[in-house]
Amino acid sequence: MSLPTLFLSHGSPMLALTDTPAHRFLQSLASTLPRPRAVVIVSAHFETGTPTVVSDANPEMIYDFRGFPKALYEIDYPAPGDATLAAEVVERLRTAGLPIDVAPKRGFDHGTWIPLSLVWPEANVPLVQLSIQPHLNPAHHLMLGRALAGLREESILVIGTGAATHNLRALFRNPAGMPAVDAPPVDWAREFADWVADRAAAGDTAALVDYRAQAPHAVMAHPEDEHFLPFFVALGAAGEGARGERIHNSYEYEALSMDMYRFD
Ligand code: ZN
Repeated sequence: MSLPTLFLSHGSPMLALTDTPAHRFLQSLASTLPRPRAVVIVSAHFETGTPTVVSDANPEMIYDFRGFPKALYEIDYPAPGDATLAAEVVERLRTAGLPIDVAPKRGFDHGTWIPLSLVWPEANVPLVQLSIQPHLNPAHHLMLGRALAGLREESILVIGTGAATHNLRALFRNPAGMPAVDAPPVDWAREFADWVADRAAAGDTAALVDYRAQAPHAVMAHPEDEHFLPFFVALGAAGEGARGERIHNSYEYEALSMDMYRFD
């Protein structure tokens, strides 16, 4: 059984607690997919110089955010790791000629546990974490994904978790406080997100990896591109010629696109 690959926007940590369209979408996502044997998850919050896979059998929680309600720090997500799958990821990257390190211990950052605690609240799908390299470009992350392309055929789901737009300065620009979670989107966020959806649907991988030059408002949407890099791993892991379908489109705090994709 061949699975798609996914890109999930994880937004603010408040996504775990706030009943928004993106929150509800994630709660319903598992019902639209065959159940995976395990997940390889690539989070924008796991940054290393060299691609690094986690072999930890029981990853702890990382509460990598400050100043949020206590309830967020009480969430536990005890999904197991999968050392056998981690070893297979190492093998696949080596075969592709990519450098790879192994981290024997590393917990789940919020880019992983917040969306996945909504998708599989039972925490019974094993998770193997793979890092991004924020100093390297989308083409590198596409190659990282391509090295994993065969996993789809083994009922392994590859998920990238980041953000379709991620400009925190724009979010906090008003001294009176953040916009409301359900405020209508600003034009630059909507125009950028729509361009990505359009190019993904067309299977235009060349334009997507060159998004910083080609997409409208690219640098406004991603002053740094680390939150968008997991998108390219998911795209690559779907294989050559894959297309992306935008399976969810919404905005939070007027500037954070919560778009989610499935690649087939
Ligand atoms: Zn994030």
